[in-house]
Amino acid sequence: MDSFYDTLEARIDLPDTRLLIGGERRDSVTGKSFETLNPATGTVIASVAQAEAGDVDLAVKAARAALGGPWKTLTGAQRGRLLNKLADLLEKNSEALVQLESLDAGKPLAATRRQDIPAAIDCLRYYAGWADKIDGVVVPARADALTYVKREPVGVVAAIVPWNFPLMNAVWKVAPAIACGCAVVLKPAELTPLTALRLGELALEAGIPPGVLNIVPGFGTGAGQALIEHPGVDKIAFTGSPAVGKHIMAVAAQTCKRVTLELGGKSANLVFADADIEGAVRASSSGIFFNAGQVCSAGSRILVQESIHDQFVELLSARAAKIKLGDPFDTTTTMGPLISAVQQQRVQDHIEAGRKEGAQIAFGGAQVEGAGFYVQPTIFARANNSMGIAQDEIFGPVATVIPFADEREAVQIANDSRYSLAAAVWTRDVTRAHQVANALRAGTVWINTYGHTDTRLPWGGYGGDSGVGRDLGRAALENYTEQKTIWLHLGMAA
Ligand code: NAD
Repeated sequence: MDSFYDTLEARIDLPDTRLLIGGERRDSVTGKSFETLNPATGTVIASVAQAEAGDVDLAVKAARAALGGPWKTLTGAQRGRLLNKLADLLEKNSEALVQLESLDAGKPLAATRRQDIPAAIDCLRYYAGWADKIDGVVVPARADALTYVKREPVGVVAAIVPWNFPLMNAVWKVAPAIACGCAVVLKPAELTPLTALRLGELALEAGIPPGVLNIVPGFGTGAGQALIEHPGVDKIAFTGSPAVGKHIMAVAAQTCKRVTLELGGKSANLVFADADIEGAVRASSSGIFFNAGQVCSAGSRILVQESIHDQFVELLSARAAKIKLGDPFDTTTTMGPLISAVQQQRVQDHIEAGRKEGAQIAFGGAQVEGAGFYVQPTIFARANNSMGIAQDEIFGPVATVIPFADEREAVQIANDSRYSLAAAVWTRDVTRAHQVANALRAGTVWINTYGHTDTRLPWGGYGGDSGVGRDLGRAALENYTEQKTIWLHLGMAA
């Protein structure tokens, strides 16, 4: 395996791993660097410059300077053209990006090809389309004044993103911020810095002015903390864990920064006895096992009506048995490793805890020996909602199946959670489908399907440990613009 990766890494075009600040590559002020690993083998891919407070200060100042430079004079249409040019460059380099992302994040090639890179390109094009449509409104408040409300960029945006969809999550923030005329300091996750660095290079190549997009890889406690404290940052756009999200909100309060938080999930996937069971099993399987369960909206709590519980678990286990766990660069692989040894251990600990709590293991659960950070797809059956495996976000390929008696109990169990990101309902009864969708406390509810996101549709939690605010869709434009009311005195009408 190592020799395969030795030649693969030699073939994969790695980005310049220095920081990107004000359009220039630079080593970190401290001279420190850190290593990014291949999750499939645990071996080092590259050494990356490690940003800390001094670098973040330079990056925030570069972003501020960019806001006062030529960037300010560009029209929305011109910003849109630059975003489209960047999308073109991602498209041109898409196979190289697929390989880079798969290598750094341990994602099966087919999934990165189908999801991560196309979604990033689509997002850039969507916000390119918005850039010249961010308009204001004339509000005829008084006869003696012309009063209008315009939208202005919020300023310097700190984008802090996780490792599960590294490029896609970065673009979800960078694209609308640039469309709105902001400047961005992007801190990728320390576990997956490579595609963000490439994005920065391609943005310069697209003609996006230096300083508009700065890339500062580093650790949360170093670069991340410096960014959220920095008085020059106007807005923090965060995706990550609830613990860090709450910390960010508290720190941001010191300087009253705008904050949006896309946090975790423990999404309930409700399957009623009248559903298309085969379809529900298929979608529920990818709902929890896609990306090895490292998905904020993973359908990790599968609520199944009592009369079909055992049949459902049997069919789901049969599907899990077909999953091919293995090397992300093997085209027959359908599930790759987890991102790190720490994450692998965390997930195994959750599985152990579930076993001790008395849930039945219907499939998987055993440790995977050898190199790489692999975890078997695992299914717990006949669990109850008070168990840790039903309440805590595991962020791995672990499904917790919980039986329910009727609609009332299903909704009650689904809403009994700290999380509120997404949910699904499977039924052939259209009235029940809508009633249940209305009753579920979740930012997104799927009916007879699972897991879709689309650039055009807002994405985010309903509060609690899933966070506040929305990425994507028209809603994200609100994150990156400020309203200004202008009041022009006209004098009294004759
Ligand atoms: P994490 O919170 O540990 O890290 C996320 C980012 O925050 C990383 O870049 C990290 O370096 C940074 N960070 C850590 N400490 C910081 C600090 N003190 N100040 C500033 N930045 C800091 O989360 P993770 O383990 O990387 O990601 C997994 C979590 O992300 C899960 O809970 C998952 O549900 C969530 N997630 C949510 C969404 C969504 O759209 N809601 C999408 C993907 C992931």
